[in-house]
Amino acid sequence: MNKYKPETICVQGGYTPGNGEARQIPIVQSTTFKYDTGEDMGKLFDLEASGYFYTRLQNPTNDAVAAKICALEGGAAAMLTSSGQAANFFAMFNLAGCGDHIVASSSIYGGTFNLISVTMARMGIDVTFVSPDCTDEELNAAFRDNTKLLFGETIANPALTVLDIEQFARAAHAHGVPLIVDNTFATPVNCRPLAWGADIVTHSTTKYMDGHGVAVGGAIVDGGKFDWMAHKEKFPGLCTPDESYHGITYAEKFGMGGAFITKCTTQLMRDFGSIQSPQHAFYLNMGLESLHVRMARHCENGQRVAEFLQSHPKVAQVHYCGLPGDAYHARAEKYLPHGSCGVVSFELTGGREAASVFMNSLRLAAIETHVADARTCCLNPASTTHRQMTDEQLKAAGVPAGLVRMSCGLENADDLIADIAQALEKVK
Ligand SMILES: *Cc1c(COP(=O)(O)O)cnc(C)c1O
Repeated sequence: MNKYKPETICVQGGYTPGNGEARQIPIVQSTTFKYDTGEDMGKLFDLEASGYFYTRLQNPTNDAVAAKICALEGGAAAMLTSSGQAANFFAMFNLAGCGDHIVASSSIYGGTFNLISVTMARMGIDVTFVSPDCTDEELNAAFRDNTKLLFGETIANPALTVLDIEQFARAAHAHGVPLIVDNTFATPVNCRPLAWGADIVTHSTTKYMDGHGVAVGGAIVDGGKFDWMAHKEKFPGLCTPDESYHGITYAEKFGMGGAFITKCTTQLMRDFGSIQSPQHAFYLNMGLESLHVRMARHCENGQRVAEFLQSHPKVAQVHYCGLPGDAYHARAEKYLPHGSCGVVSFELTGGREAASVFMNSLRLAAIETHVADARTCCLNPASTTHRQMTDEQLKAAGVPAGLVRMSCGLENADDLIADIAQALEKVK
């Protein structure tokens, strides 16, 4: 499937039915699989043969959908997880453990920031955050001898900063570690981080990939280009025998293309069990079938709304990399030539009070803690997710009180703009 263009992979990737078989991906709604002999099954447990035995580890529906996402990203191997949180945790914890250190962009999803700075810190994993706009010098200075990975987001949620993937990949590789990129907002339709030097890509499939607000899910894709054995001393988990799996050395047995995902499945999915249900994988696949069509419209609506907002006197500032004046416009032209996403954030001149009146006056756009849905939705962080902070603290965190994050859906752009215009009129 890798030879086809993204649009074709969106529709047909991951599953090719045989003669007389179901056209749509079958939902294998079974926790377990039957074998004729104990010996047959033993081979699966030893990873001597490939096959299914228990859905926590692998399921045919999930594998087909993971294969589609893998092909879309141009990767070597992929797996689904129960959520984007699980995907990012697994991708990082597969490489870093107690006593290790990671470097991450400071401009990332709040849930990931918390995962790294609170929960992974409790597991003994140290972190250094760097600005997505840091110099090479600042970035290089963040690495230590025990650093195991570098992490960033293609387009950060909610700050909408754009990552210089080549710069980050260069720094990671100079220090013998992989770059992990969360590609949730861009999706592989608009950016393929692996092609720019990233080694591993993660997704909250809950967002654009699903696209209809139906199923929480995640995915991890390995590009298969990172040479673990060349950095043996840094990655003992991949390069020395796993006593919990019959002494297998993943990097030797499965090579660069298979080691990371196999270890992530056999160790982390086995022990943490954050599996996506086959039913959710089926919903996700339905979303993927139209991802390329929907992304273009999300971007078109985002651009139209951003341009309208920019011209409005009650709007102090608009953040959208598709605007020529945006701080990330040049980077977006390089990494996101076909568009970024449908999420626009903007600051009202009237602050928190104005944001509240504006949002309560919207008729089409709903107030939700969600983005990347077919239906337009919006959120004022100051009165919801960041409610405990004072106006000064909000400013310092880069989330001013009057900031509104709007996720433009698939409606008609003129209708969206008319709705925004009438809501802005209610603001004093
Ligand atoms: C939503 C989101 C996550 C977390 O994903 P869930 O599916 O909600 O667990 C991770 N990264 C980014 C960029 C997100 O937007």
